[in-house]
Amino acid sequence: MSSATHNPLPYARQCIDDNDIAAVVEVLRSDFLTTGPKVEEFEQAVAHFVGAQHAVAVSSGTAALHAAMFALGIGPGDEVIVPPMTFVATANCVVYQGGTPVFADVDADTLLIDPNCVEAAISPRTRAVIAVDYAGQPCDYDALRAITGRHGLALVADSCHSLGAKYQGRSIGSVADVTCFSFHPVKHITTGEGGMATTGDFELAERMRRFRSHGISADHRLRAKTRTWHYEMRDLGFNYRLTDIQCALGISQLQKLPGWLLRRREIAEAYDQRLAGIPDIEPLGRREDADHAYHLYVTQAKARDEVFLRLREAGVGVSVHYPPVHLHPFYTQTFGTCGGMCPTAEAAGRHVITLPLFPHMTTDELMRVVDASAVRLDGCGSGGTG
Ligand SMILES: *Cc1c(COP(=O)(O)O)cnc(C)c1O
Repeated sequence: MSSATHNPLPYARQCIDDNDIAAVVEVLRSDFLTTGPKVEEFEQAVAHFVGAQHAVAVSSGTAALHAAMFALGIGPGDEVIVPPMTFVATANCVVYQGGTPVFADVDADTLLIDPNCVEAAISPRTRAVIAVDYAGQPCDYDALRAITGRHGLALVADSCHSLGAKYQGRSIGSVADVTCFSFHPVKHITTGEGGMATTGDFELAERMRRFRSHGISADHRLRAKTRTWHYEMRDLGFNYRLTDIQCALGISQLQKLPGWLLRRREIAEAYDQRLAGIPDIEPLGRREDADHAYHLYVTQAKARDEVFLRLREAGVGVSVHYPPVHLHPFYTQTFGTCGGMCPTAEAAGRHVITLPLFPHMTTDELMRVVDASAVRLDGCGSGGTG
């Protein structure tokens, strides 16, 4: 039994330093724990980083997606096209609004939503497309934009994997009508839980701002400034606010993102090289016109379940992103989705395996993953008890 068994390597891990901790403590000693100055400061920092005009901080990536669906007016009878190779939240946000997610299959090489399948899924009820930058690689936004433009649809980017990525030199966050980010600890930067929606459209930004705070038209600081008690609830919103404590952490984390992106790309390259000679482990295809942000290092293996178990036994925290969303019982039972609807995603769901990748992962740790992956499927050297 190796010591690795007792010291498992996670597939992703946050990176918190003394500056992050000091930034949070400073807010704890200040007047505003929530709805204070750090919220706008974090919004402006993210907007600046991604080249967007507006950024709306919310309590999670899921809340950002929900706010986007609300702001776009998605409701009962409306269809929104989504890929199945994603986290359930991408489709759930449509259902929250009473809409129907329609699944469009992915490209076999990159597992990104296939624009041809998007076009084929359009009906008279289609209102929007949500593109997912799976693993951190931007989708084919030119092709998607051409389709949404031709049919008068909104284009939303679920970019929870791709903060810091670029599509043809343009930062993700400024390419779609609304872009949603997550700050969960496994993502590029963290606020514990948290999310952000960016847009170039003032009206959409205003609607999302109201939505995150009960649909009320002015926050209490604005009311204090204008010395009035007056406020109006215009829409049915939620409490999706992000606290100042979290925003302070986000501001501090964002400063380190450029360095972390470089390190993620370095690790991905090292994996590419070292896995190249290993049978049955195939990295995903890469697009030439995009700068990948490498949230995940995804490979495909024919004998995925065996590779998965072997790596887990070697103390490597591998994971599967994702079981296709349309095959979850909620979707098959509520929307009648079933196997055969998205064959490429369904095949990928049986073969994808995510290897550990986070900025402060060491070369030794990377070699541990590669060595464990390299064990032949005939069982030689697999060590029996693990
Ligand atoms: C993480 C993630 C979400 C949800 O983000 P939360 O902050 O956990 O709510 C949505 N979509 C994708 C693709 C994600 O990876």
